[in-house]
Amino acid sequence: MSRTHRELRTPPPLPDGGLRVIALGGLGEIGRNMTVFEHAGKLLVVDIGVLFPEEHQPGVDVILPDFTAIRDRLDDVVAIVLTHGHEDHIGGVPYLLRERADIPLVGSKLTLAFIEAKLKEHKIRPETVEVSEGDLVDFGPFGLEFLAVNHSIPDALAVAIRTAAGLVLHTGDFKMDQFPLDRRITDLRGFARLGEEGVDLFLTDSTNAEVPGFTTSEGELVPAIEKVFRTAPRRVIVSSFASHVHRIQQVLDQAHAHGRKVAFVGRSMVRNMGIARELGYLTVPDGLVVDMKVLEKLPADQVCLICTGSQGEPMAALARMANRDHVIRISEGDTVLLASSLVPGNENAIYRVINELTRWGANVVHKGNAKVHVSGHASAGELVYCYNIVKPRNVMPVHGEWRHLKANGELAVRTGVHPKGVVLAEDGFAVDLVDGRVRISGKVPAGNVYVDGETVGGATEAHLKDRRNLAEEGVITVVAIVDADTGTLAEPPDFLARGFVHDETTFDAVVPLVEKALARAAEEGVGGAVQLEQLISRAVGQWAHRTYRRSPMIIPIVIDA
Ligand SMILES: [Zn+2]
Repeated sequence: MSRTHRELRTPPPLPDGGLRVIALGGLGEIGRNMTVFEHAGKLLVVDIGVLFPEEHQPGVDVILPDFTAIRDRLDDVVAIVLTHGHEDHIGGVPYLLRERADIPLVGSKLTLAFIEAKLKEHKIRPETVEVSEGDLVDFGPFGLEFLAVNHSIPDALAVAIRTAAGLVLHTGDFKMDQFPLDRRITDLRGFARLGEEGVDLFLTDSTNAEVPGFTTSEGELVPAIEKVFRTAPRRVIVSSFASHVHRIQQVLDQAHAHGRKVAFVGRSMVRNMGIARELGYLTVPDGLVVDMKVLEKLPADQVCLICTGSQGEPMAALARMANRDHVIRISEGDTVLLASSLVPGNENAIYRVINELTRWGANVVHKGNAKVHVSGHASAGELVYCYNIVKPRNVMPVHGEWRHLKANGELAVRTGVHPKGVVLAEDGFAVDLVDGRVRISGKVPAGNVYVDGETVGGATEAHLKDRRNLAEEGVITVVAIVDADTGTLAEPPDFLARGFVHDETTFDAVVPLVEKALARAAEEGVGGAVQLEQLISRAVGQWAHRTYRRSPMIIPIVIDA
């Protein structure tokens, strides 16, 4: 497999007739998926997702791909193809459309409905082109063909891209559930047909490449979900992703079968289920879904609530219920069903919520103690099938951390793809397809862009480092009034500390150190406020480290006496 070289430069211009593929996100991480295809001077974007921050990124709302590499060429972008409606594939769209609003969005009916609802909140009315499986549409030099794929959200599509450089097949997120609720299976016949035509580059979902065998069918969750509804003595409160229409369909079916009424709780859940129902992706028996006010008056054993917050998100309904910060009060005998995955990085938050709910008397059913969740991604067995059916010349694993990409690449090689044809790239790598061969030709910027409140891209790694430092070590502010003529303190400095363990006498020992630093500065003729502040900062920082083994943030303020 093609190894990566960390010292890469800006790629040279693309040779005539070649195709360049640059992932601006989604390689080496789960989320923030975005791939840019360049051919004949035009650009095609597939997906623009967001990544959710982890605990070491405090204060960040979401993380976007860096658009720097295409910012000067937005007029060359012919379309944005959206493979499906998950946040890690559409969440970044509003931010690119802010820079050029009329780039057409191409996607299935449900995908477009989800992104349009999101864009409405950003006050953007997009140009859209609705497509479905089997459709052929041209955008500039890119001939697109869409194929049905099965995933944990309905109406997902793979996209085949025909250019003079060759045929590319991008699976998007997919799995091969043979018995999905909507009977819409991944179009392997279409994959095979493209394979016969000759797939020059195959981009495949790596998320579950390390998982042996096959991903279990959604239908196999029926017994566990049925059991919850059959045995729950009081209310059933279900939390799932607000986009998992089929999982919620299963919950609705069981609630209906067991004589319960249902209310949706949480903005995104209410919004998405409204869209899914209106468009016919969710089937709701008459009278099943009722208003919260109606539900509250029913006996507890006739109640089912479906809410957001399955990942322990602090502001979502479930966490607020766990914290007694929600009108719905969890009480003895309630059953909480977490019909969802446990996204890496969210474990602590989720277990905290489970513990709190349990403390209030709820019986919590989750993937750790019952079969109430299956993945939305193809496991190794499915990927191998795909490689054998498609017989691609070259493979570029996408959507995954490095270990997932590598495992996926190895599967491709095991099915007979030449190791030189398997390209393991990182975000920003330019992968060129020229004369049927792939190679890495350079690298463009592809760092994290943080959305932080109303600012986009303002917060940097340095800001996050400061925040972590403040959180872990605290802060000491030193106010020193210095006589400009003598360079000595006009009065003893003031110390203000937050998050740094101290008492009234703690800083007594620092005063002589500050005096000494200032005296040396005066001797050496150093007198500017900025330089004096640096000296004070260093003296106090060294003292804190020497005495307490702590590294608080030091904020020195020098005032002219
Ligand atoms: Zn997805």
